Amino acid sequence: MNQMISKPQQGTTVKPEELVPSRYAVQIGEIEVLVISDGVLPLPTKMLGHNAEAADRAAWLKDMYLPQDAFDWSLNVVLVRSGAQTILIDAGLGLDPDLNLPRAGQLIKRLESAGIDLGSVTDVVLTHMHMDHVGGLLVDGVKERLRPDLRIHVAAAEVKFWEAPDFTHVNMPEGFPDALRAAAKKFAADYRDQLRLFEDTHEVAPGVVVHRTGGHTPGHSVVRLASGGDRLTFAGDAVFAVGFDHPDWHNGFEHDPEEAARVRMRLLTELAATGEQLVATHLPFPSVGRVAVDGDTFRWVPVFWDY
Ligand SMILES: [Zn+2]
Repeated sequence: MNQMISKPQQGTTVKPEELVPSRYAVQIGEIEVLVISDGVLPLPTKMLGHNAEAADRAAWLKDMYLPQDAFDWSLNVVLVRSGAQTILIDAGLGLDPDLNLPRAGQLIKRLESAGIDLGSVTDVVLTHMHMDHVGGLLVDGVKERLRPDLRIHVAAAEVKFWEAPDFTHVNMPEGFPDALRAAAKKFAADYRDQLRLFEDTHEVAPGVVVHRTGGHTPGHSVVRLASGGDRLTFAGDAVFAVGFDHPDWHNGFEHDPEEAARVRMRLLTELAATGEQLVATHLPFPSVGRVAVDGDTFRWVPVFWDY
């Protein structure tokens, strides 16, 4: 073998730890936004729309060139800097060894590789208390690294809901309801002193306003950013990848699927009208785009990467 190839010069053999850095930055006026991927969560395709015909789900997957057996849900978390505040919006899945989801729960590692110290986070905003949004805060050692004066903003209706959650309208794989109950309960207990409850709307920082929508869960909320004429909405679980083509499909994680569909229609209609940017937890990373109206439904228009 050629000496030059077998012994490359120092500095050329460093392999990147990951194929992509899994973070993407957006500027909204004065507000800095960083989308960070927590990984992906493979789930049965029925969860895309359990009120739809299996053939219609199969057709959508085929149209999207996606496999038929399982659908990989992206998991996106957003870090926002506004004024003196550093705000984490949701916290990813964390670790649940019982559910065998090794590709998710990457947030803490990826925050570190982005140079973000957990101790610099002043506020957390939770869109809701499902495990894939609070789990990162439950990983061993994380609470100790967070500031003791950390504020966690969550709708009062969400905390109330998880005291006796209703799972009668969801459609989840076995094991998930128990895991979700346990994660929400542990979160409420571990972070009781940090919780800052709001009713419907709350300004977390200049230009960073959280609005309760309900639907997905009773306290589900979206975060709207506005600065210098730019706007971006973090929609949490109000919108899924399939929700542009089929906004009326009931997602398996929705506790009130009928209301969730109404919330989705309203939000997508509004975003299409304003032309503002959208980021959502389970849209494919980096999940930054806009919404267009397409007949009776919608079209996802990803931004062209700016780098
Ligand atoms: Zn979710």
